[in-house]
Amino acid sequence: MPLRSALDLLPRARAAGHAVGAFSIHSPEMVEAVFDAAEAAAAPVILQVGRRAVRNSGVEQCCAWVRQRASRSAVPACLHLDHALDFDAVVRGLRAGCTSVMYDGAELPLAENARRTAEIVRLAHAAGVPVEAEVGRVGGVEDDISVEEAEARLAGPEACARFVAETGCDSLAPAVGSVHGLGSGVPRLRIDLLRRIAAVVPLPLVLHGGSGLDGAQMRAAIGAGVAKVNIDTELRRAFVAGLREGLEAHGPTDDPALALAAGTAAVRAQVAARIADFGAAGQA
Ligand SMILES: [Zn+2]
Repeated sequence: MPLRSALDLLPRARAAGHAVGAFSIHSPEMVEAVFDAAEAAAAPVILQVGRRAVRNSGVEQCCAWVRQRASRSAVPACLHLDHALDFDAVVRGLRAGCTSVMYDGAELPLAENARRTAEIVRLAHAAGVPVEAEVGRVGGVEDDISVEEAEARLAGPEACARFVAETGCDSLAPAVGSVHGLGSGVPRLRIDLLRRIAAVVPLPLVLHGGSGLDGAQMRAAIGAGVAKVNIDTELRRAFVAGLREGLEAHGPTDDPALALAAGTAAVRAQVAARIADFGAAGQA
């Protein structure tokens, strides 16, 4: 079936109380694994292309992998451009067929973030594509910051409501304590803050940095209004670990398919587990 807009998947998910997994893909095998797991669970799914994949393979190539597999998908699927940092990146994503884009102006002062997000919204909406934006700043595990700094990066409910009204964005990723990547400790989500944001922002909320969060925190976040959860690092880890195991299991070989099959299976299992955490099984 043709790719679906995030507008077809996310408002419905928030209303129904589940979340759609947004799984970052880095190779055709990862695309295959995500689709296979979503189809097996009859779950709607988002495949996303982030900056690492763009750097490694180019946005056109990554999107082509997804579009090709989507044409024979049995479940509704959306192709999302993650963390576009400027106008040009968004245009390239739109030209490559993305049916959802995220503009990330979180490093900018809030007023400037809102101004640029509004420009991107105007552009993307003209192409019929919805926009996700970020308020506050979702940190990375590599960021070494104090508790006060971490608190200052969180999104305030009033700022979120104003930002949404000013920009016309379609979904919002507020910084609520999750971090990008996998650190040593499990990040603690501010579910109280999420609830206060959800009370004044009726849009689907997006959780970045879903890797490493336990199922209980995930379910609490979804109960508080999260309708899309981004998963990247843990899928890359699963893929690479699977490749390694595949090679070791078969001994000396010159057949890459053996390692790739094991990597694909590992990603498929991880995606299946997350779809279950998100309550998305059977929602296609
Ligand atoms: Zn992110």
